[in-house]
Amino acid sequence: MSIDFPASFMLIASMNPCPCGYFNHPEKECTCSPVMVQKYLNKISGPLLDRIDLHVEVTPVPFSELSSTKMSENSSDVRERVMKARDIQAKRFEGHEGVYCNAQMGSKLLKEICVISSVGQNLLKTAMDRLNLSARAYDRILKVSRTIADLAGSEEIRPEHLAEAIQYRSLDREGWAG
Ligand SMILES: [Zn+2]
Repeated sequence: MSIDFPASFMLIASMNPCPCGYFNHPEKECTCSPVMVQKYLNKISGPLLDRIDLHVEVTPVPFSELSSTKMSENSSDVRERVMKARDIQAKRFEGHEGVYCNAQMGSKLLKEICVISSVGQNLLKTAMDRLNLSARAYDRILKVSRTIADLAGSEEIRPEHLAEAIQYRSLDREGWAG
């Protein structure tokens, strides 16, 4: 039998890029063959990857940067920006029961809200073809780009917002393993 429980969760996961762990490492050499890398990545199915909003490649940070005293952005500033974007979304979905943020949009709402210009459409089409993205990934790019636009305080989804969202699909790319 199957049982549904109400759940709203955030999934954060990490993985090595290849069995030896040095694929794309700035200094160390990866000793895996392309077939080995592909086999390793294929352990995670496409439909599962499709459902993860952001794929981010994290390369090692050199010691000089780790120990640098350069100030990075403050967490409270980031929090403020996130709260603002959340407010925009709460207003956007007023009157849509059960929808509070961009991630919860169904396909009908997505079409209504994530309207993009012809320049953006061309960009998206090229990315879909070149990176061989699925329909699910397409919807995800639109939702993520809407959120990026909200964080930037922009009413429209601009091509740069789409470009950033496309970047976050790095694991969908066929060319990952070279
Ligand atoms: Zn390797």
